[in-house]
Amino acid sequence: MLALFPPHFDPEWTNTVSMTADGEQKVEDAFTIQESDCCGNGCTNCILDNKPKPSQRALLAGKRNIILKYTRFRLLQKDSHKGDDKVLFLHLAADSDEKDDCVLDIPPGHHVMLRIGSLLRPYSPYWTDFASKEFKILVKLQPDGPMSKNLAAMQLNDRLEFRGPIGNYRHDPAVTKCIFILAQGVAIAPTLPLVGQVLENEDDMSRIWHLVCSPDLQHVYFRDQLLEFSKYWNYRSCLYLPHQQCGSAECLGAGHCIQECVELRRSLRYKERVCLHRLDASELESHANPAIPGLRVLIIAGDSGFQRAMGEAAARALAVAQENVYLL
Ligand SMILES: Cc1cc2nc3c(=O)[nH]c(=O)nc-3n(C[C@H](O)[C@H](O)[C@H](O)COP(=O)(O)OP(=O)(O)OC[C@H]3O[C@@H](n4cnc5c(N)ncnc54)[C@H](O)[C@@H]3O)c2cc1C
Repeated sequence: MLALFPPHFDPEWTNTVSMTADGEQKVEDAFTIQESDCCGNGCTNCILDNKPKPSQRALLAGKRNIILKYTRFRLLQKDSHKGDDKVLFLHLAADSDEKDDCVLDIPPGHHVMLRIGSLLRPYSPYWTDFASKEFKILVKLQPDGPMSKNLAAMQLNDRLEFRGPIGNYRHDPAVTKCIFILAQGVAIAPTLPLVGQVLENEDDMSRIWHLVCSPDLQHVYFRDQLLEFSKYWNYRSCLYLPHQQCGSAECLGAGHCIQECVELRRSLRYKERVCLHRLDASELESHANPAIPGLRVLIIAGDSGFQRAMGEAAARALAVAQENVYLL
């Protein structure tokens, strides 16, 4: 298929062709990554090691992946999370000025870099649309955070510049896997496309264990989506809510809701499994299911503290080889 393109065809426009003084053709990579492209936050999948690559999907469609270089996106929608106005759902679409011969390809497990002036911060889409060039992110505003201040002030139709995709996660549906996903707080967002990718492919025989860590039920994002996932034979989830607290004397005495808490049971939906303590090594072992065949993969989505705390212990408890551990 690719061989059909003429030799000068460069659908990603990654290269610029110029002439040297002695008339030789010089091809330069327009997306050379420089130190200044790094946000400086010590991301596990730093852009300096994970240069945005041309998208095979876009190439096959004969189109350009619009986000390969910084591109303006328009804010279509901005909503707060019910019960926490410091958590925003942002829906963005490529600016209508941007070229029509483009698509948007942000593969599951990849993030994008937001740039405002010289301020750079990475964000992880939980939904993208290839043809309409739209994506959505979940943002937790950090007190006094410079990017948080900018995002809090954003109005509908304002423009933001993003670039990507950045990351190294790849999923081959031909290889059956046991995929353990540990997600902390808002970092559950980038795990949704990973789960969707497996469940929506009937030929994919991989199984998923989605272990979600949040302080309490009110801070579990995408509950409806998790319940949708629960309809699939190859998906299991468990919510870890160590700070769930109702007003009953017994739960107040315990410092958090107890497992038998009637109030909590009433708030749970069908098939929602909850543990009222932290996810620790022994709990992880209970999900290991060593008899189930398949390549064992561990995905840890959370801040660097969570990744550090979980990394080695989880890989050991779930019998996952280090080369199959991905940090988002
Ligand atoms: C690969 C990657 C993907 C990311 N994806 C998302 C995303 O989808 N949604 C999102 O909201 N954020 C995400 N982040 C974090 C995001 O890039 C910013 O750090 C965050 O929005 C705060 O930016 P800021 O400039 O307002 O504050 P900063 O100056 O970055 O931080 C202000 C303070 O908050 C602390 N802080 C920052 N982030 C966190 C956190 N997650 N948990 C606890 N403390 C924190 C910092 O240590 C600092 O003390 C991601 C980070 C990485 C590395």
